[in-house]
Amino acid sequence: MNTLTHPEFSNHERVVFVTDAASGLKAIIAVHSSQLGPAIGGCRMWPYLSASDALTDVLRLSRGMTYKNALAGIASGGGKSVIIGDSKRDKSASLMRAMGKAIHDLGGLYIAAEDSGTSPSDMAVMAESTPYVAGLDHELGSGDPSPSTALGVFLSLKKAVLQRFDQPSVNGLRVNIQGIGQVGFELARLLVAEGADVRASDTNRTALLRAVDELSVTPLEHEEIFTNPCDIFAPCAMGGILNETTIPRLSTQIVAGAANNQLRNETDHLLLHERGILYCPDYLINAGGVIDVYHRRQGHSIDAVQRGVADIGERAQSILTEAHARQISPEIIAAEHAEARLSQPVRAKTHSAAA
Ligand code: NAD
Repeated sequence: MNTLTHPEFSNHERVVFVTDAASGLKAIIAVHSSQLGPAIGGCRMWPYLSASDALTDVLRLSRGMTYKNALAGIASGGGKSVIIGDSKRDKSASLMRAMGKAIHDLGGLYIAAEDSGTSPSDMAVMAESTPYVAGLDHELGSGDPSPSTALGVFLSLKKAVLQRFDQPSVNGLRVNIQGIGQVGFELARLLVAEGADVRASDTNRTALLRAVDELSVTPLEHEEIFTNPCDIFAPCAMGGILNETTIPRLSTQIVAGAANNQLRNETDHLLLHERGILYCPDYLINAGGVIDVYHRRQGHSIDAVQRGVADIGERAQSILTEAHARQISPEIIAAEHAEARLSQPVRAKTHSAAA
């Protein structure tokens, strides 16, 4: 496993492999870019089948964070960390503290936040070892960024609906949500409140039944979520689910969801464009969480958080409009905008100021 020759390696600034025998920690921290500021990104805990799978994930996710943070207009670079393990079985306070120590050793180059498999309470344990942790409960609000992520997706999804269906609301539209976890549930709540017909699938039966009970969503089987005709498909589970196998089976007008790295291959957005499906780039519309933790960490007001999340919808509208005018995939426009910000003069690097 050579990191420098790995297909997903893209001049990452730092890739650190971490082990701690006492707690059983095995993790990888990847900082893709700190050009715009200390790299901020989630710490995911996932039962990867191999260290190679974990490396692939962290390299892709950290690069995605660079683009997401650049587009979001925050002074943060892109990074991510992954802990190899089952969050229900392998998680312990000593493991989280050991992870915190590894993050601390980077001296503020990377700031962790919660992600799939971790929670604000895990961040609190990590913070016993380092100040370089965001999304803590005491930082103005609950510490859970998921509602902000869901709101940013919802506002963007409505802009896509405006463009495709020429209507300002999701009332009466059919939305298939894959993954009804922290973000998916909140997104479903917003959609149902506006009159959408929401269907959902989840590998976790308890999560699915909660959405059925509390929001009256219609449950779908795992494969049906792709093929069941809908107006909007919202991937809110894991990455890589838009690919040459699934895209031809989709029966939707719009794809707009929270999951990171939805495209398995970088060029898969072209398959969606060729099929006339309007794709809202994930890193454009799911930035609500990172905007939320960034402002809270900076000690900014709740107004700053709300403005930052509302701006996602405006940004999505401008990118979708430009894509429509140029008749190209919105992914290309989003990448152009992110790269334009990244090509601006490099800031002076003072990572420790973010502690
Ligand atoms: P979560 O773990 O709370 O929810 C994910 C849900 O998807 C779980 O209920 C899980 O059982 C389900 N799932 C997993 N594989 C599935 C499959 N193949 N089919 C159907 N369901 C499946 O995670 P979350 O915090 O809601 O995040 C969801 C996605 O959004 C992740 O990709 C995450 O990286 C991304 N994201 C989250 C945030 C945030 O603020 N939480 C921010 C940005 C991006």
